[in-house]
Amino acid sequence: MTGRGHGITVAGAHPQPAAVPDRGPVPGAGSPGCALIEDMTTSLDLPEPSTIPLRSPHDVLAAVPYRLGFRPAESIVIACTAERGRPGLVARVGIDELRGDGAAEGLAALARAVAGTHPTYCALVLYTARGAAAADDVVQDVRRALQPVVDVDGWVVAPDGYRGLGCEDPTCCPEPGHPLAALECGEIGAAYVLAGHVVADSADAAYRIPRAPEATRNLAGRAARRSEVARQRATGDAGTGCWRDEALDAWRKALHRVETAAGAAVDGEPVGLAPALVGRVGAALADRVVRDVALLTLVPGGEEAVRATTGEADRATVDDATARVLGRVIDPADAVVPDPDVVARARAVLEQVDAHVPQRLRAPALTLLAFLAWWAGDGPRASYRVGEALDADESYRLAQLLHCVISTALPPGWVRAASSSG
Ligand SMILES: [Zn+2]
Repeated sequence: MTGRGHGITVAGAHPQPAAVPDRGPVPGAGSPGCALIEDMTTSLDLPEPSTIPLRSPHDVLAAVPYRLGFRPAESIVIACTAERGRPGLVARVGIDELRGDGAAEGLAALARAVAGTHPTYCALVLYTARGAAAADDVVQDVRRALQPVVDVDGWVVAPDGYRGLGCEDPTCCPEPGHPLAALECGEIGAAYVLAGHVVADSADAAYRIPRAPEATRNLAGRAARRSEVARQRATGDAGTGCWRDEALDAWRKALHRVETAAGAAVDGEPVGLAPALVGRVGAALADRVVRDVALLTLVPGGEEAVRATTGEADRATVDDATARVLGRVIDPADAVVPDPDVVARARAVLEQVDAHVPQRLRAPALTLLAFLAWWAGDGPRASYRVGEALDADESYRLAQLLHCVISTALPPGWVRAASSSG
């Protein structure tokens, strides 16, 4: 490793861009490579003009916490750049996860995802407080997995500094390493902060949805229970259809009423929906047909599919419509882009549902939140939410499917379309 040159470098001196074979598009969800690594987060920066170019490995390292939204701990991060220093894929895997079942499949999927983004530079960054040697086995596993796809440049970030992984040249990486302040207070960090990015101390601090106060949770819980009882008592297709119509009304009403703008906060607290409405939405989403129709209402063109299914209350028809719409979201040829206002409203409603409803009703809202985050290109949040959904109900089918898509680092179609044309 010595002499590969990871010192604080003159721009452009190194690293040399790696040759990346063209492996074609990233394989689809449900491929045999569906990762089994649960503690894994990936992110793609959205192709927007304000994207901050990363000109050296130090820039790449400085950007990692901003791009993940939190400071990684006891993890390996793969951070790539594309041509002209455009930020590419960032993926984080917990060190312990890399020693677990399914790690090899997960790494194979990661390698395909990295190849699909055509990186010009790829850093493998070990974040640990236990000494680099203790994680050497997993570092070698990751290196082996990525070697056929891209040359990786190894780094270690420890509490007392950061240095080239295995670099023994004191003129390049002096003991104990370059000061972390150089990463945290540098130009790149400042640029991300100016662009409104924040870094939390952990994924939990970044993404956890605080529980609502007990009094409003009780109100929401009672409304949810009433709705669940009504669902059980509804008889025949007509009765069930009627219940579903009311359930979808609650969803639409919540989307319409929820406040998402900054002006909607009173004394810094977001203005909430009535707890009873939040509870009804929670119970509504527990019905699979209602949940799927609710999801369809968020996707442009999905309303059409909803109209085709409304009134029929036919599970197979809704399943078909849902599969078609999800296919459009995944396929870069169609590349349907989320409407920011619709996504913000749905997210606000679903977060309130999660803050209020009892544990048994949490999985559907968390799964839809994971879907919205993934679709918006926020891989770390998507991964965290889908993990929460599976914690709430490990048998929840849509969460399992989404977990597959997210952990193979498969970006939504519109992101892939943008990165292959730009
Ligand atoms: Zn060095």
